[in-house]
Amino acid sequence: MSFKSLGLRTEILRAVSEKGYCTPTPIQFEAIPPVLEGRDIMGGAQTGTGKTASFTLPLLQRLMATYKPDEDSRTIRALMLTPTRELAAQVGQSIDIYGKYLPLKSSVIYGGVKINPQIQKLRNGIDILVATPGRLLDHISQKTVDLSQIEILVLDEADRMLDMGFIRDIRKVLALIPKQKQTLLFSATFSDEIKKLSNNLLQSPILIEVAQHNTASERVTQIVHPVDKNRKRELLSYLIGSNNWKQVLVFNRTKHGANRLSEQLITDGITSAAIHGNKSQGARTRALSDFKSGKIRVLVATDIAARGLDIDQLPHVVNYELPNLPEDYVHRIGRTGRAGNEGEAMSLVCVDELKLLKDIERLIKRDIPKLSVVDFEPDPSIKPQPLNNKRGKQQQAKRKPSGKKTVPGKNHSRSPYKGRSSSQNHSGNRAHNNLQKAS
Ligand code: AMP
Repeated sequence: MSFKSLGLRTEILRAVSEKGYCTPTPIQFEAIPPVLEGRDIMGGAQTGTGKTASFTLPLLQRLMATYKPDEDSRTIRALMLTPTRELAAQVGQSIDIYGKYLPLKSSVIYGGVKINPQIQKLRNGIDILVATPGRLLDHISQKTVDLSQIEILVLDEADRMLDMGFIRDIRKVLALIPKQKQTLLFSATFSDEIKKLSNNLLQSPILIEVAQHNTASERVTQIVHPVDKNRKRELLSYLIGSNNWKQVLVFNRTKHGANRLSEQLITDGITSAAIHGNKSQGARTRALSDFKSGKIRVLVATDIAARGLDIDQLPHVVNYELPNLPEDYVHRIGRTGRAGNEGEAMSLVCVDELKLLKDIERLIKRDIPKLSVVDFEPDPSIKPQPLNNKRGKQQQAKRKPSGKKTVPGKNHSRSPYKGRSSSQNHSGNRAHNNLQKAS
């Protein structure tokens, strides 16, 4: 199956081929024909599946079908909403790449940067707008953006937009868009909230699911290294150093924790930067480009900041702390093993996080192999402490009300690590390689 057989025009085929794509990915194969026909789509696909091209390529083609080369009558005809600035920037870059031989103009707007250059670009006239909801509303209130001529609406990573509390902003935006339009909604998971949103928004949508949602990517080797909380940093530095990892994305639950860990890694001689919502847009962009170019080895990120990051062939993801929401684990490990490459996701799990680990294993419907690293085995006498988990608890309560109460520490006073294999090999490096094989 080729891109040509999907019915895409020559200019787009040329750009796709220059980008080096030979065959469409499953989501592209399934989504491109119905989008070209003007159908609404509900796409279940995680980042890494090629979903951006699956909606961008046919969207460009549809806009070209009725394109008028009259500069004065240029109005925004397609709106793409994304949860984060990074994802907006990446979608914008994809439009530039796939549309490089087309006369369509696009612009990306997000918060954290000056609004005036964005206003200027909007004034010059664009066909496609990529935006995060908050900054889009700023523009709407300043009347610098007109959404009355939108023909195609894309909601990318809709589940994350809802998780981030954007539903009211999205509703405000929807109220300003014509009812008659084509809508493409993409989401990694289909929660009840997503279904509600799509029921109201989509008309006879085609449901496309490329991988069972909530299923962790098959190409990613997953492993849990049990370790005491106060030795995680040491273990992380050891793993990076002894295996000579060059590019590692490390997840932390909090912004403060991400900063601290990044500083500590630097002290250990490992080049690193943190990326999270409190960093300026400039600092975030710089950290990402330094990481992509290999200038820094470790990027320490919070879930929200890392969402949607597209880093080609990212080989290692480390969960320094498990996420509060099990779905975030799936999103995190989806940063690696992308577009056909192998990836490795490892989680440093202390006794306090066993409940979170169980929730994750329930969601992905499999046990993750647990292997201790020699000299970093957890001390069995350490009892679990409750996690400072306010945000996660609030979100979980919002999602699935449950009558069950869990008393922190009560459920897992027996360590499941007991009796698990802790490698007998006393060369740490070799031990880790052995562990990876065992998984
Ligand atoms: P996405 O899921 O849109 O974030 O895409 C994940 C990665 O796959 C990006 O780096 C794309 O450049 C790449 N990609 C998308 N489509 C293809 C394709 N047909 N063949 C090879 N790589 C692709």
